[in-house]
Amino acid sequence: MITSTTNPQPADFADVRATNLAVVLRFVREHAPCSRADIAASTGLNKATVSSLVADLIDRRLVRETGLTENRVGRPATMLVLDGSPYAAIGVEINVDYVTAVAVDLSGERLLSWRRSFPGATSTVSQAVAAVAALVRRVTGRMAKEERQVLGLTVGVPGLVGTDGTVLIAPNLGWRDADLAGDLAKALRDPGFAVQIDNDANLAALAEYRFGSQAGTANLVYLTGEIGVGAGIVMDGRLRRGGRGYSGEIGHIQLDPLGAECRCGRLGCLEAVAGIGAVLQHAALSPAEVEIELEEVVRLARADERRTLDLLTSVGHHLGKGVSVLANLLNPEVVILGGYYVPLAPWLLPAVAEEMRGRTIAPEAGGCRVVASTLGYDAAALGGAARVLDSVDSGRLPSVS
Ligand SMILES: [Zn+2]
Repeated sequence: MITSTTNPQPADFADVRATNLAVVLRFVREHAPCSRADIAASTGLNKATVSSLVADLIDRRLVRETGLTENRVGRPATMLVLDGSPYAAIGVEINVDYVTAVAVDLSGERLLSWRRSFPGATSTVSQAVAAVAALVRRVTGRMAKEERQVLGLTVGVPGLVGTDGTVLIAPNLGWRDADLAGDLAKALRDPGFAVQIDNDANLAALAEYRFGSQAGTANLVYLTGEIGVGAGIVMDGRLRRGGRGYSGEIGHIQLDPLGAECRCGRLGCLEAVAGIGAVLQHAALSPAEVEIELEEVVRLARADERRTLDLLTSVGHHLGKGVSVLANLLNPEVVILGGYYVPLAPWLLPAVAEEMRGRTIAPEAGGCRVVASTLGYDAAALGGAARVLDSVDSGRLPSVS
């Protein structure tokens, strides 16, 4: 059965209006600066309707007139651009060794980006909730000072997240059945905006799709290069979550039946042999201070230290096997390596490419390119904010204040 949720069936007039507002808002996002006539010509809505919708969006301060005019044949037109200056979308990522918070305005402009070290592997859920709530309160405080209305918050977690925001299992955090959305909303004392939880790889894929160097690529996969390795899958321009929201757990495909034990309890999982923990362990460095230790690995690789080069080549081959599975199964246009893989990419990519040549059945790996992310360590948090903006784009508009 083929279904589409991109064209919701309007139930009544209010729904039709909300849907049309979202259509116009998306058009302005993609084509600004543009005129009312441009919108009418491209969307098929009549001019009177477009004028009324634009007036509504201006009232909500989602769109503004630039005063610029475009001199075509005929009358000059007032041009429209996204406004969004009174709004903010917040994204947070909880990971094994850090918590990150990002806020963007409606047009995606970065308002702040904070990163704090955090002992995720040894913290309880309630400690994490307290830490995230404290960080979010500081962000919302800053946004209030700038007189911005917070549109929503999405928190990314490295684990299986159900559609209701429950974290079923996050092996690298040691969490099971955590009602993170509920606990966080309680800790924030009914913040007046929606709190959503999502998988970190899903959010990073959304960030790449909206903001990254490969933005707009309809078929892309993001691989988190953290202690864990997860895939966020965008196919045909939509994030693919699967039946219960648990897709993308490529970190737990078995690459070596006799390989190292994974945090999930199984042997030789991709993330156990090619995650950043494996890199540091084999380099005899402590995975406790990942960022600092990683700099040392990069330094040794730059100095052509033999053992380090061999280690990265071996990790690259394991990673390449995993990426080949993705290429054979999903035929993505691009696989984006994120997180700690980014600084290591120059040494990982040749081995990844070699595995793909040998393991994909389609010629030229089905056209699949493998690149390093340019979004840095913020990707998942940025994707949290992107998910909030996505919900605005799909019609959940802020009310007029
Ligand atoms: Zn595993």
